Amino acid sequence: MTGNPSVSRWDELPIRDELRGKSPYGAPQLDVPVRLNTNENPYPLPEALVERIAERVREAARDLNRYPDRDAVRLRTELAAYLTKSAGYPLGMENVWAANGSNEVIQQLLQTFGGPGRTAIGFEPSYSMHALIARGTGTGWISGPRNEDFTIDLAAAERAIAEHKPDVVFVTTPNNPTGNAVPPETVLALYEAAQAAKPSMVIVDEAYIEFSHGASLLPLLDGRPHLVISRTMSKAFGAAGLRLGYLAAHPAVVDAVQLVRLPYHLSAVTQATALAALEHTDTLLGYVEQLKAERDRLVTELRAIGYEVTESDANFVQFGRFADAHEAWRKILDRGVLVRDNGVPGWLRVSAGTPQENDAFLDAVREVKKELGS
Ligand SMILES: *Cc1c(COP(=O)(O)O)cnc(C)c1O
Repeated sequence: MTGNPSVSRWDELPIRDELRGKSPYGAPQLDVPVRLNTNENPYPLPEALVERIAERVREAARDLNRYPDRDAVRLRTELAAYLTKSAGYPLGMENVWAANGSNEVIQQLLQTFGGPGRTAIGFEPSYSMHALIARGTGTGWISGPRNEDFTIDLAAAERAIAEHKPDVVFVTTPNNPTGNAVPPETVLALYEAAQAAKPSMVIVDEAYIEFSHGASLLPLLDGRPHLVISRTMSKAFGAAGLRLGYLAAHPAVVDAVQLVRLPYHLSAVTQATALAALEHTDTLLGYVEQLKAERDRLVTELRAIGYEVTESDANFVQFGRFADAHEAWRKILDRGVLVRDNGVPGWLRVSAGTPQENDAFLDAVREVKKELGS
């Protein structure tokens, strides 16, 4: 009994009112030669790592009749070691929690600290999944302000936090889709404002931190039990297909999310694969250096062509301005290059690809600039 033509739309099902008429999240997955629209790492995993993954997964396969380690102790221990080494701030596995992508980490956080009758605030434009996960968990969403140049308007943000007293405050640094990092002083001021208002949890989404000119905010965890730093292996580690995100926080936060996580949420195959990838951290972070150089080249060349570019600390660049960003997106696509229209009026976003992909992109936008005039 599949494909009953009389039930063709989910809107006709008795779904929750707040989902009615909405669209699912998703960038178009189009089959074009150059895809620079989802901030993936363009470099495939090195062959030695592919072999190591196969080995560790083979070992894990022998035990697949059993449920996996529910607490992912080995993986959390290795993630904590990576964070300790990269941020110079000591963290143990009791400070770290992992899930299927940082989107699941954020969902677990909102299930724990948000939910019906509660609210979360983000400063937009920012990562649209924060608002969507809020909706999915029944958490009210408050869209906080930004300045014209996409920096956070601190005074306005502090006022919004004082007025709305949100239960959760999101800060994305470097921010997506704009690319700019949030100064640590601003994050600290937002944390103080959130503590004075409620106190609320502050979730700092550091999905792109490895690409930043600045340091991770992990050391700010010291003495701040309501701060959570969320991370992912999808971007810098070049493992978007793995689905592995994690958080660092006070151990009480890690204990609290146990209340909502599904038992055995992280498969044995995922844990084995992530452990193998972490053995190759140095090689993977070598690609990050190449991508940072390509990111900086994109900024320079786009400005030379005559585009405006937002400062970028990420592996992507926001450029404009266009009278009609969607028309420009389409014209770039017509030249075989897929970038992202995030719905920020006048602006598009391009992920840093390989040098060849970036050259193809730059050729395309040079032509589009001529065609559209200035
Ligand atoms: C890409 C991205 C993530 C990653 O999500 P995963 O579920 O870990 O793939 C998280 N936050 C931001 C801001 C992102 O851009």
